[in-house]
Amino acid sequence: MNRALLPDSIEKLLPEWSSQARIVPTQIILHTIVGSALGAYNGFLKNSNLESHLIAPYVGAMWQLIPFDRSADANYRANRRPDGTGAVSIETEDNGQATIANTPWTAHQIDIIVDACVYLCRTYGIPPRLCRTPSDPGIGYHTLFGAPSEWTPVAKSCPGAARIAQVPGIIARVAAELAGTKPTPAQPAQRTFNEGEDMDLIVICEGKGIWHVQRHGAAFISAAEKNAILAAYLKASASLPEITVSEGALPGYGISA
Ligand SMILES: [Zn+2]
Repeated sequence: MNRALLPDSIEKLLPEWSSQARIVPTQIILHTIVGSALGAYNGFLKNSNLESHLIAPYVGAMWQLIPFDRSADANYRANRRPDGTGAVSIETEDNGQATIANTPWTAHQIDIIVDACVYLCRTYGIPPRLCRTPSDPGIGYHTLFGAPSEWTPVAKSCPGAARIAQVPGIIARVAAELAGTKPTPAQPAQRTFNEGEDMDLIVICEGKGIWHVQRHGAAFISAAEKNAILAAYLKASASLPEITVSEGALPGYGISA
């Protein structure tokens, strides 16, 4: 397997991943979903020819839907330009249309967006700067050049005023990490899980610790996914308490079995 995937992401490749045209990523474009991560994923899966490369959920690691070296159709003409370059699109969970203008990304979402951008900049040589033109290599957001524009055929406000205001800080963090000016925290010893182990789903809960979600019957994520989530958690925050909650106590993560 030689797919261009984000390390520690949760792999949820859409069926069309292998038929999408190849691209060389030169840009990262940030979006907001207008709804839940799962709703967007199901929309891409069942109701739409569109897709994004990544989804940043409120809880847990980044979801990967399309490999980075394939086109994802979320950015109109930036999906894939005639020279074969294109944009990596990052969708992000929000609270829906009514609050889109004033719902900032959470600290957790910003952390996983920054991590993804650092990885993409390192891997593909994307510069950590705001795109200066619609084809300029760098980082941008959907309506950076207006709407409609080269990046969207229709009028829209994506990703909303509150999130747009956070973009400069995200780019600054990415640039600082790439420049090595931010120390990497020591990695605590990591527990890992084996396939079939009688361990319930673990999710990252922002600033609150590891939540062990009680669940009966067949495991619905693999040990590899659990370990990826745990690794992302440990990377983000050491020595937080562990909390046990019931499955129903996590709205927004309720993937129905
Ligand atoms: Zn968008």
